[in-house]
Amino acid sequence: MASRRGQKPQRKLPQRTCVVCRVEMPKRALMRIVRTPEGAVRVDPRGKLSGRGAYLCPREQCFRSRKAREKVAQALGIQIEEQTWERLQPELEELAALRAAELEQGGSGVPAQQFGGEDAEGG
Ligand SMILES: [Zn+2]
Repeated sequence: MASRRGQKPQRKLPQRTCVVCRVEMPKRALMRIVRTPEGAVRVDPRGKLSGRGAYLCPREQCFRSRKAREKVAQALGIQIEEQTWERLQPELEELAALRAAELEQGGSGVPAQQFGGEDAEGG
């Protein structure tokens, strides 16, 4: 009998799927959005908050898209108000920039902070 036991214990990075484009990426490359126990929705930069999570890839066409809010809401099993979603956007943008920098620099990067936003409030 020839038993095939060629399975090496290889360390696989945990993969997650972007809820918008369905592309699988290493968990660390994605952005996690969490539903807290109180039912609030938060961006989870470190991936450490407890609660149900949905992942978005750090591409504008994903996290900025209209579909994103629906898809995240669906994944979390809740409704997300547009207001709520809007409030998450700056955090997502910031996180996306971080992720992009990490990818480019292989993880040893200092986050370049650049805020170009003036007061966008209007009556
Ligand atoms: Zn995506």
